[in-house]
Amino acid sequence: MSSIEKDIHYHIYQRSISNKEVYRCIDPDCKHYQPKREFLVGKRARCVKCKELFIITQKQVKAGHQRPGHKDLVCLTCSNSKKGKILRIVETQLEGILADLSKENNPFNSNGGGI
Ligand SMILES: [Zn+2]
Ligand SMILES: [Zn+2]
Repeated sequence: MSSIEKDIHYHIYQRSISNKEVYRCIDPDCKHYQPKREFLVGKRARCVKCKELFIITQKQVKAGHQRPGHKDLVCLTCSNSKKGKILRIVETQLEGILADLSKENNPFNSNGGGI
């Protein structure tokens, strides 16, 4: 167990409704906010949806420019639904392959014919 990981708090960013430059951390115990979104680029943050760590890209911060209102900063898997879908398909396929493999390993042909 690394105590470092426990001590470091990664912010969970959500854009302010009134000011699209401002992102705040939605953690109830954290008062952090970022007044300039350009400073978020390259920072490690926690995904609002899946709570996984990711690095914020310039594309993500700029993507919210057109649409007003709330914007959660999510990881690539959560922001790109197409990619997320493909990932899920691959995952289920892998599970199937692994299940087949474990079937083959069953002691099916171990002296089943008797004497
Ligand atoms: Zn925070
Ligand atoms: Zn995510």
